[in-house]
Amino acid sequence: MIVVGAGVIGASVAHHLGALGQRRVLVLERAESPGAGSTGRATGGFRCQFTTEINVRLSLLSREKLLRFPEEIGVDSGYRPYGYLFCAANETQLALLRQAIALQRAVGVHAVREVLVDEIRQINPALFTDDLVGGSFCDWDGFTRPLQILEGYWRASQRLGVEYRFGVPPVRLWREGARLRGVQVGAERIEAGAVVNACGAWAAELARTAGVRLPVAPLKRQVAQTYPFDRLPETMPMSIDVSDGFHLRVRDGRVLLLYPHGLKEEHTFDTTLETDWLEIVYQRACQRVPCLAESRIDPQTSWAGLYELSPDRHAIVGEARGCEGLYLLNGSSGHGVMHAPALGEIGARLVLGLPLPFDITSLRPTRFEENAPNPETGVL
Ligand SMILES: Cc1cc2nc3c(=O)[nH]c(=O)nc-3n(C[C@H](O)[C@H](O)[C@H](O)COP(=O)(O)OP(=O)(O)OC[C@H]3O[C@@H](n4cnc5c(N)ncnc54)[C@H](O)[C@@H]3O)c2cc1C
Repeated sequence: MIVVGAGVIGASVAHHLGALGQRRVLVLERAESPGAGSTGRATGGFRCQFTTEINVRLSLLSREKLLRFPEEIGVDSGYRPYGYLFCAANETQLALLRQAIALQRAVGVHAVREVLVDEIRQINPALFTDDLVGGSFCDWDGFTRPLQILEGYWRASQRLGVEYRFGVPPVRLWREGARLRGVQVGAERIEAGAVVNACGAWAAELARTAGVRLPVAPLKRQVAQTYPFDRLPETMPMSIDVSDGFHLRVRDGRVLLLYPHGLKEEHTFDTTLETDWLEIVYQRACQRVPCLAESRIDPQTSWAGLYELSPDRHAIVGEARGCEGLYLLNGSSGHGVMHAPALGEIGARLVLGLPLPFDITSLRPTRFEENAPNPETGVL
C-alpha cells in the first residue's frame, strides 16, 4: 500500500493501516519533513458544531480518538475543550444556530446548547455584545495541536512498521487500463495494491496524473497574529461571528485572528500574506473585542496557507470511479486536522474492505456528477 502525502491525513491513514494489521505501508512525501503542507499552517480549531450529520459524526469519532490519543498514540494531541462560541447578531442567524443545535444533539453532541447574551458575556467577557441576540456554545469543541497529532501518528505508525520516504520527486500515479498499478517517483516505478491520495490542496494534481478529475481546489486562508498579549486567556473559547465568519482564539500568549471577508477567492497555490488584509482584520477584531485596541499585529509571524476546497466543502472519500485501486481522502475544506483521526480510520478500513464506523455515502466521490452535493455548511 502506498500513501502519497505526509500531512496529518496521510500519517493518520498510514497509522490506521498499520494498526489494522496491514504490512508494507509506504508513505511518499516530496517535502523534506512531515507537515510541510497545510497541516503546519492550521490554527488547531476543533468543533462538533457543524450543520450536517456527516461532519458531526466525523467530529464525534475524532473526539473519541483524541481523548484516547495519549494512551493509544503516546503523544499529547493538544486537545483542550475550551469550547466554540458562535454569536448571532439577528434572529435569522439565531434560528440557523437553533437548527444546527437540534441536528447536533440528535446526532449525539449532548454538550451543545443555546446561550443568551448574558451567558455569552460570562463565557467570554472580552466580547462586545451590544449588537448580539444570542448564540450557541459547546464545550466539547476547542483546540488541538495539529503538528502534535501528525507527529503522534507519524511516530506510532513507524513503530508498526510503516516506512516513510521524504524529499522524493513529486509522485505521479502509474495506471494501466481501469486499474492503478502503483506510482512513479522520478525514474522509479513502485507497484502497489492500493494508493491513497492524501495530498491536501494538491490532491487534484496527483489525481490528474492518472486521468482522474478530482474537484479539489486550493483556497488561501490567512491568520493575523498579535504580538504577545496577556489581556485574553489561553482558555478563551474560539469566538465566532456568524454574520461574517470573523473568529479568534489565543495560542501561546498571542491572539490569532481569522476573517474570510475581504480575501480574494482565487484558487491559486500562492500563499503570500496580504498586508492590507492585516489592517482589515485588526479593525474588525477591535470592534468585537475592544481590549485588542491595546494589541498590535505582528506581520512577521502572521501567515497564510491553503484550504483544500471541495465544491460542497465536505471531504471526498472513497475509491475513484474508473480507477480501481486509487483511494481519495481529500477535500476536507479547512477541517482536515480535526477530522484526520476519523478520516484515517475510515480510509484504512475502506482500503482493506473492512466495515466502516458509520455510513459515509454522502462523502462519495461521484456525488458532484450525480448532482447530489451536501448542503454547504456554516461560516468557517
Ligand atoms: C490558515 C489555516 C487554518 C486552518 N485551521 C484549521 C483548523 O483550525 N482546524 C482544522 O481541522 N483544519 C484547519 N485547517 C485545514 C487543515 O490545515 C487541512 O485541512 C489539513 O492540514 C489537511 O491535511 P492533509 O494531510 O490532507 O494535507 P497537507 O497537510 O497539506 O499534506 C499534504 C502533503 O502532500 C504532499 N504532496 C502533495 N502533492 C504531492 C506529490 N505529488 N508527491 C508527494 N507529496 C505530495 C505535500 O507536500 C504535503 O506535505 C487550516 C488551514 C489553514 C490554511
